Amino acid sequence: MDPTRRMSDSFDVLVVGGGAAGLMCALAAGRRGRRVLVLEGASKVGKKILMSGGGRCNFTNTGTQPENFLSANPHFCKSALARYTPADFIAMVDRHGIAWHEKELGQLFCDVSSKLVVRMLLDECAAAGVRIETGCSIGEVRRDGDMFSLHSSSGAFAASSLVVASGGLSIPSMGASGFGYELARQFGHQVLPTRAGLVPLTLSGTHSERMQDLSGVSLPIEASCNGQSFRNAMLVTHRGLSGPAILQISSYWHPGDALRLDLLPGLDAEAWLREQRRTRPAGELRTALADALPKRFAQRLCEAWLGNRPMRQYDDRGLDEIAAQLRHWPIVASGTEGYRTAEVTLGGVDTRGLSSTTMESRHVPGLYFIGEVVDVTGWLGGYNFQWAWASGHAAGQVA
Ligand SMILES: Cc1cc2nc3c(=O)[nH]c(=O)nc-3n(C[C@H](O)[C@H](O)[C@H](O)COP(=O)(O)OP(=O)(O)OC[C@H]3O[C@@H](n4cnc5c(N)ncnc54)[C@H](O)[C@@H]3O)c2cc1C
Repeated sequence: MDPTRRMSDSFDVLVVGGGAAGLMCALAAGRRGRRVLVLEGASKVGKKILMSGGGRCNFTNTGTQPENFLSANPHFCKSALARYTPADFIAMVDRHGIAWHEKELGQLFCDVSSKLVVRMLLDECAAAGVRIETGCSIGEVRRDGDMFSLHSSSGAFAASSLVVASGGLSIPSMGASGFGYELARQFGHQVLPTRAGLVPLTLSGTHSERMQDLSGVSLPIEASCNGQSFRNAMLVTHRGLSGPAILQISSYWHPGDALRLDLLPGLDAEAWLREQRRTRPAGELRTALADALPKRFAQRLCEAWLGNRPMRQYDDRGLDEIAAQLRHWPIVASGTEGYRTAEVTLGGVDTRGLSSTTMESRHVPGLYFIGEVVDVTGWLGGYNFQWAWASGHAAGQVA
């Protein structure tokens, strides 16, 4: 017998990463009577759950559809999402007496605190007999015969199933690491290029100088890029642009891509400007625009981009040119704030190497990848946790 095996504590399932996906998988496998050990690198589990949704965890979205996810294979997420739905997670939340509310667009938040969601997952894990080791640094991982052996600061462990739930690269200060990608490569999996998603965009040069002092100004816009559009708020920051519309579109934007920001979404800008000219011919453009946009923002638009004359001095062509700039504000993003502030990591373990029903590796029996480490990334609004629950549940049924 292999000596490492004799020295190891034996389990049925080792789960690396005690985040949303790892805890869900652990409790699901534990409920099936499997002996499960969760190995978490940080000092406590579920740190991202705790900080999510401004401390109230936007734990799901009732409108979750495969279309709300980005992946090189848009079909991959369908099976897991269909078999563990927002209603399933809500049922667990309700069973634990956690009060919640819908904020907007199907986004469900805790009334009180994200801590309750972590507590619920820990209670479920405890009831299912799951053991959890925190502050655990993982060394070598090997496959010997049909068993995985893993050396860590908490000891040596062996199990027939190894579930990788170590998340993406976002927010390194919260324990994010490239562990899952390295392990995937070690076992022959392709890892698609990763980049920051749901992240503020940065401005540089004159664009930055023009906007910097407007930090804190927010307005509704429609952001479009590469065939995708989001209508929601944009927030000007010290470094550039943020707010839900910008975070959403950031996942579809690569440096150099055309980004279209419509500052008067849903408004026929040409007709509206003509109406302003008719009703207030002596009024200046910036005063008219201040009726539709925040005053300081309207003023800056006129100073830096549009000019400013009394409305009666514009002919139809002049107004149409202004309308075109309002519909497609000629601002140029220089980059993103990167993983430091990104909510998610796009790309990751290539789904072509995984079963979409179980998340199991097609190359290595007993090896599973779940949650954000996989090349499936949701929109802003509770979709990423729903993917973590659904993929964790899928693996937890078989691991
Ligand atoms: C600020 C912020 C707010 C967010 N808000 C929301 C929201 O409201 N709604 C929503 O749906 N999504 C939200 N997200 C996204 C969501 O948190 C993630 O998509 C989700 O947590 C992914 O779950 P996961 O289990 O795959 O990864 P994680 O939750 O990141 O868990 C991975 C775990 O693995 C551990 N780990 C990493 N490397 C190792 C290692 N080498 N050894 C051992 N352990 C390791 C980490 O410490 C971590 O605990 C937010 C993200 C951020 C950053």
